[in-house]
Amino acid sequence: MRYDTLIIGGGLGGLECGYLLSRAGQRVLVLEQGRQPGGCLQSLRRQGMTFDTGFHYVGGLAEGQSLHAAFRCLGLLDLPWQRLDADGFDRVTIGDRTFPFAEGYDAFADRLAEDFPAERTALRRYADLLQRTAEGQWNALSPCPSETEMTTRMMETPAWQYLQENFRDPLLIQVLGGTSLKMELRKESLPLFAFLHGNSCFVESSWRLRGDGSLIADALVRGIRTQGGDVVCRAEVRELLERNGRLVRAVCSNGEAYEGRLFVSDIHPDQTCRMVKDSQRLRPLFRRRIHGLAQSFGMFTVSLRLAPQSLRYFNHNHYVYRRPDVWDFHLNNRPVGGVLASCRVPEDGSGFARQVDLLTPMTWESCRNWVTRRDADYEEMKRQMADECVALAGQVVPGLHEAKTVCTSTPLTWQRYTLSPEGSAYGLRKDCRAPMLTFLSPRTPIPNLFLTGQNLGLHGLHGVTMTAFRTCAEILGRETVWDMLHGNGAATH
Ligand SMILES: Cc1cc2nc3c(=O)[nH]c(=O)nc-3n(C[C@H](O)[C@H](O)[C@H](O)COP(=O)(O)OP(=O)(O)OC[C@H]3O[C@@H](n4cnc5c(N)ncnc54)[C@H](O)[C@@H]3O)c2cc1C
Repeated sequence: MRYDTLIIGGGLGGLECGYLLSRAGQRVLVLEQGRQPGGCLQSLRRQGMTFDTGFHYVGGLAEGQSLHAAFRCLGLLDLPWQRLDADGFDRVTIGDRTFPFAEGYDAFADRLAEDFPAERTALRRYADLLQRTAEGQWNALSPCPSETEMTTRMMETPAWQYLQENFRDPLLIQVLGGTSLKMELRKESLPLFAFLHGNSCFVESSWRLRGDGSLIADALVRGIRTQGGDVVCRAEVRELLERNGRLVRAVCSNGEAYEGRLFVSDIHPDQTCRMVKDSQRLRPLFRRRIHGLAQSFGMFTVSLRLAPQSLRYFNHNHYVYRRPDVWDFHLNNRPVGGVLASCRVPEDGSGFARQVDLLTPMTWESCRNWVTRRDADYEEMKRQMADECVALAGQVVPGLHEAKTVCTSTPLTWQRYTLSPEGSAYGLRKDCRAPMLTFLSPRTPIPNLFLTGQNLGLHGLHGVTMTAFRTCAEILGRETVWDMLHGNGAATH
């Protein structure tokens, strides 16, 4: 059988494309190498509980906000979302001071201005910029795009430089970056564009699931199947065959082969290129360029199980830093200098939490010793890091020290489960010094091969969703996808 579109990789990007294309009447097949779909969104089950891996919260889901229409179109709005505290959806503790981030652009600026009164005007300007960013998120799809010049400028400007030029208080500059464990804070390379996008939707409104991230993947898989498509797991694509300058077939490691008219790759672009062994279209220069791109850092995560009634559920995320070095601490992995503590909504309806996740950045470099062999030293390193994370988060979350560590993960774990190069958490590093090289287009030199996923544009649920719509716009046409996004695009089958 020949599919309209074969999708390689069943992470969020691949599943969203599968959903949109099948909704438009295409016969799609998603090939996922893992045992379950979802990539970074898969969850794991331990000791009778499910634990999240790469999802803790998302922004902009309320009516009229930046992700609302997209999630409605994808059938994801009906999931059990829980809105985080409006007066502090995120809290940043640096040393012994805590700064809440309030929901809504005015409230966000005003609340921080209580701690930094001399910066009120600069905070207002920053909040305006965040708002314009959220409002312009779907510009690339719009039939009448606006502010394209501003977008280009924001891609070329380092976020760090913007903060230095617009704020005088060095502590405030750290605080504004303080919720950004969710992106790779690098002074020299992080584009303002990525920094603003990574923050703006959460200021609109922030949400977590009552349940784990696999609810998102499962809902998309159900939608794809209802719309006539399919998702196959344990199907690792090894080779993409090109004939006369177009892809014709995907061959899996188990020998299964699938034919397609179009191909969408949700996996790393370098791995995608390497799968096309003989190609008239992929020139060595293109392959070298993609191969030479750097990866963003990985994550160390700790999943904690709490004794019943030992910790009251907290309806916000808490970012805790030992010192005001939010932009630099990840360069020295040890001792852990910053951690995100995220609480799972209690499923028994009580006011007490049973699960807390801790996350901190971890470089591939620091895992190098164990790439080929996980020994007792590796276990000891993980144990020590977990203890350091608990000690740091325990400064603001009482009773955490008594929690039981159920499992930990390092970039090596991520590489094993999602095949992400260097176990990178957020895909290719975006670099304001080379935006044209590091923000990739969904199109490739092979006319029927398209890319999607976090490696192209921005990462996270927001970024990957925007990119999935862009990829599908290349296939279905911008107007069709714009109509689908705004509720006019009924299914054509
Ligand atoms: C620890 C952590 C915490 C995070 N927290 C949040 C959060 O709170 N909020 C948020 O918005 N974002 C968060 N993110 C980011 C978010 O999870 C990702 O940006 C997003 O899920 C990436 O989706 P993707 O489809 O681009 O990539 P992936 O999820 O990596 O999907 C790629 C898929 O391709 C599959 N694959 C690879 N090679 C092959 C092959 N050869 N054949 C077939 N299949 C293949 C993989 O198994 C995988 O399923 C977090 C990420 C991490 C790592």
